[in-house]
Amino acid sequence: MNTLKNTDPEIFAAISDELKRQQSHIELIASENYCSTAVMQAQGSVMTNKYAEGYPGRRWYAGCGKVDIAEKLAIERAMDIFGAEHANVQPHSGSQANMAVLFSSLTPGNKILSMDLSHGGHLTHGFKKNFSGQLYEKITYGVSEETGYIDYDELRAIAKKTNPDLVIAGASAYPRELDFAKFKEIADEVGALFLADIAHIAGLIVAGVHQDPVPYADFVTTSTHKTLRGPRGGLILCKAKYASKIDQFIFPGIQGGPLMHVIAAKAVAFKEAKTEEFRKTQIQTLKNTKKLANELKDKDYKIVSGGTDNHLFLIDLSNKNISGTEAQETLEKAGIILNRNMIPFDKRTANDPSGIRMGTPSVTTRGMKEPEMCQIANWIDSALNGRGDDNKLRTIKNEVAKLCSTYPIYNDNSALVS
Ligand code: PLP
Repeated sequence: MNTLKNTDPEIFAAISDELKRQQSHIELIASENYCSTAVMQAQGSVMTNKYAEGYPGRRWYAGCGKVDIAEKLAIERAMDIFGAEHANVQPHSGSQANMAVLFSSLTPGNKILSMDLSHGGHLTHGFKKNFSGQLYEKITYGVSEETGYIDYDELRAIAKKTNPDLVIAGASAYPRELDFAKFKEIADEVGALFLADIAHIAGLIVAGVHQDPVPYADFVTTSTHKTLRGPRGGLILCKAKYASKIDQFIFPGIQGGPLMHVIAAKAVAFKEAKTEEFRKTQIQTLKNTKKLANELKDKDYKIVSGGTDNHLFLIDLSNKNISGTEAQETLEKAGIILNRNMIPFDKRTANDPSGIRMGTPSVTTRGMKEPEMCQIANWIDSALNGRGDDNKLRTIKNEVAKLCSTYPIYNDNSALVS
């Protein structure tokens, strides 16, 4: 990155320092991951220069032959790894994937039945300050207060009572497996369309370690940068009968020129997702998440729903006399990065909730396994017990950095900028 260093030393320094931060910290934000060097090389390529409004073979500009190759490969690979009838690889993000599905399948005033935000749902599923909540009526389902699992009988009863136009399955903070077949059954019973938003769990689905929504859902949306380990972006899969409507609602509906460099990088990520190495990493992610949750449970942390089936879990800190925000800030001082999170039936506010969320995709990608999960649980516990003791937190931070140095995030160093 010498050219960047000479042209813009300030941005070079920010990137260089961000790399050092990523390398030296333990990353437990459940929605993050480290994409491969190959993905970054495609994303940092000349394809960023090309305008390509339209779709392969049907562009509004000349000179699209080479970017067409990249987009066709991305589409074919997405359809292949998910077994889908149609793929649109152009959404700039998971949110825009959801926007295109909602615009294509609903009219303003229609009803969406989706998960309560404080129970793990997402902003684009009907939150009042999001476009989805401004245009459509949101009806919510949640988890049982007793078990922390989605109560499908209650979901069916709500659906029957309210007659939604669209049922959404998918969450940002639900630690249990989603029963897509059950969602489909309920949507069919009330004549609603069914959207599965697999933003968080797409990698697990490709690896075959989570139930697959593709046979059941009218639409499947995802972001490409979480467990799927691609560049930051979005993807829509749908039944063939919705293909042309979805394509039209992405372009010209809500987007202009597609990000061809990102689409090239998505193609690379979809190729990587077909490998045995990818499958093994997803399996290890599940093992690591279970191990980390169990270790913390043994230290008297309350795990929401009692455990986890996927790549993340939530801790209810209400028995520890510490808020989610204080925990997040304390752990950052100890070199451990995660986020505060509402827990179902939280008595506190979204800004300072009772919980924290943690996930293991990033630490698993860098090669950590069960013994490291024990070590991380010990550090989390001693940092939270030692909050306010900056010396102690600094000592943990040094130990964290030492462990991290033995698990470089980019083995070949080609992504290193200094
Ligand atoms: N859907 C779910 C369930 C998510 O968790 C997220 C992001 O966290 C999104 C959609 C939106 O993805 P993006 O951040 O790419 O817009």
